[in-house]
Amino acid sequence: MRYDDSSPSPESGSAVSPDRPWYARRSTLVVAAAAVAPACLAGWLLTQVLVSDGAGERPPKASAASGPDAKPGAAPATGSPSAPAASAPASASPSPAASAAPAPAKGPLTGRTVVIDPGHNTGNFKHSREINKQVDIGTNRKECDTTGTTTNAGYMEAEFTLDVSLRLRAVLEAQGVKVVLTHQADRPWGPCIDERARIGNEAAADAVVSVHADGVSAGSRGFHVILPATVKAGGADTAKIVGPSRELGERIAGNFARTTGSAPANYLGGGTGLVVRDDLGGLNLSTRPKVFIECGNMRDAKDAAQLTSPEWRQKAAQGIANGIVGFLGG
Ligand code: ZN
Repeated sequence: MRYDDSSPSPESGSAVSPDRPWYARRSTLVVAAAAVAPACLAGWLLTQVLVSDGAGERPPKASAASGPDAKPGAAPATGSPSAPAASAPASASPSPAASAAPAPAKGPLTGRTVVIDPGHNTGNFKHSREINKQVDIGTNRKECDTTGTTTNAGYMEAEFTLDVSLRLRAVLEAQGVKVVLTHQADRPWGPCIDERARIGNEAAADAVVSVHADGVSAGSRGFHVILPATVKAGGADTAKIVGPSRELGERIAGNFARTTGSAPANYLGGGTGLVVRDDLGGLNLSTRPKVFIECGNMRDAKDAAQLTSPEWRQKAAQGIANGIVGFLGG
């Protein structure tokens, strides 16, 4: 869901690429992947030239903003329900390069660092007091963290984000990337959004990706990538990351579309799959290139069918990874 923004403010930074659309930038690594994309997708991509002014990108506030129908009782048992074996990187690695040793693999991206931020935490539902504590995001104060959304059947966004993040880690590690997760079901709640940003900063990450799924009304479908707006206030100063973050986001959006076959969101972003926001602490406080990705809408039955599919989640992770690898020049 809309992660650390339970009280969305009017969109002030909405914009779409004024110069070069994301689909014009493709990672050479994934050109092969594009070949397997349905021909109709290519045609569809060409239709995504329309650039909106972003007006109306603020989606309707999710009616289940705090996930009231989530099953709290399910939380303890679902720390990493369908996640690949996190403790066994080699077996968890689904990529063709899965033969890589469990130890940090040597690869074209050895020496690069990526921080992956699985949105929310399955334990947040049981720690409302802690996660509701306000933290400073530079431009504002916001809740430490939010619960995230769920599918109508109760599959938690926090389960989804961790599962995709672990898959993403495996793919990147096979390329030699040093991967840092902001958490992995190893803490009862959080981290807070300011800490999530700080982890990326302190790791001197070459790229940071926060993984989410949205929780808006049925019929709203597709993915979108959220880019940092230019903000400067308090501890927030994104001037240096706006440009590289956009490139990172465009590459992820293009690769995600190709790998999953999903379309950009039909409810915001003007069909570009890109949205700029100035109200997210995780972006405002980052000093490293960083984006969020909303992989789909958990409240839409068709999107939910994808989000709950391990096979689809693998494609999602691969698409995000391809975008990151392209950004890193791998
Ligand atoms: Zn979220």
